[in-house]
Amino acid sequence: MKIAITSVLALALVACSQQKAPAPAEPEAVAAPKTAAEIHDEMLVLDTHLDTPANFSKADFDIMADNPSVLGSVQVDLPKMNRGGLDGGFWVTFTPQGPMDPASYEAAKQAALTRNQEIHDMVAAHPESFELAYTSEDAARIAATGKKVVYMSIENSYPLGTDIGMVEEFYNRGVRMIGPVHFRDNQFADSATDLGANDYGGLSPLGVELIKEANRLGMMVDGSHASDSTVDDIIELSTTPIMLSHTGVKAVYDHPRNIDDDLMRKVADDGGVIQINAYGGYLEQLTPTPERQAALDEMQKEFEGISPATADAETRDRYIAKMEEIDAQFPAPRSTFEKFLEHMNHALEVVGPDHVGMGADWDGGGGVVGMEDVSFLPRVTEALLAEGYSEEDIQKIWSGNMLKLMKQVEDAAAPKPE
Ligand SMILES: [Zn+2]
Repeated sequence: MKIAITSVLALALVACSQQKAPAPAEPEAVAAPKTAAEIHDEMLVLDTHLDTPANFSKADFDIMADNPSVLGSVQVDLPKMNRGGLDGGFWVTFTPQGPMDPASYEAAKQAALTRNQEIHDMVAAHPESFELAYTSEDAARIAATGKKVVYMSIENSYPLGTDIGMVEEFYNRGVRMIGPVHFRDNQFADSATDLGANDYGGLSPLGVELIKEANRLGMMVDGSHASDSTVDDIIELSTTPIMLSHTGVKAVYDHPRNIDDDLMRKVADDGGVIQINAYGGYLEQLTPTPERQAALDEMQKEFEGISPATADAETRDRYIAKMEEIDAQFPAPRSTFEKFLEHMNHALEVVGPDHVGMGADWDGGGGVVGMEDVSFLPRVTEALLAEGYSEEDIQKIWSGNMLKLMKQVEDAAAPKPE
């Protein structure tokens, strides 16, 4: 108890000294120091993994409205972006991994094209609030007009099938970042979370073609979800540094989806960036209550052998409804803002502020207690200031590093025909 009270006092003192006194390094300063919120507001703030497009086809979702914010529900909409000072980022076309046969590839391709179109449609419906972004220079220009920045990315290249020409098809539709693989090994690469079936020891021959094509066109290659061997292969093969758009660190939580210090250094030495996610299950071991576990087991029996990714619409809706019922009755265990910061601070300690950023996996499972949606982002700036990072460093973390990488990728691309 004594320890707890002492640490609360210590925190309170730190908070007071930040708010009321000038920083110790500038004892002569006369002007009132800017607050963390003011500093945050002035920055160009981008997140490299917004799964929000998954909400676009839902009847009760409105990007312009302040949707109810519940963990795992709507975390990104215009009012929340405004409150949290989020200028935009990469809006994801995500496709769950399915069977690798021509009919499944075709179905996945159509779903991904539809999702990409929904992003275009959302922006077209609200041209006063959102703008599509294609180059590294677009973000600052768009944000200066008060609009939100909509870059596009692909999470899981599964829907490309075996047709490498589809990389250019998606590039032409505005996609500027591509991740080869998701939870399961696929036609392009080994996944971090499917090591039992490790087929290629990294990229497949088709995966090699995918990276070359991304390099040629000028797309960032996203190694999040890829196995360590795949990340190694990408670093070796790609003419440009690698992006990890939403990843945690193994030193804080030993999960296959997270990256160890050696690989993190390798990514950074190569010029790459590691964007830290806020996905509870990758931040720490979260154990459900026995009641929740029992309900999940019961559900498992009911949906034996059924994957929501490939089920028909009726079954999928029933699955989602059941999941929501369980979540409401026996809430899932949650990670915390403090745990998220442990991951971010560790990455910053290992590779420094030139190689770290944020890709929280909003609307894709991200969000923690204390940072439930994007309106809480000023807390990150506040925490980084408290850690002693300069405004210049924090600006790099919020967007400078990823835009620098994007510029490198553009410059390295083959010249485009007029
Ligand atoms: Zn993901």
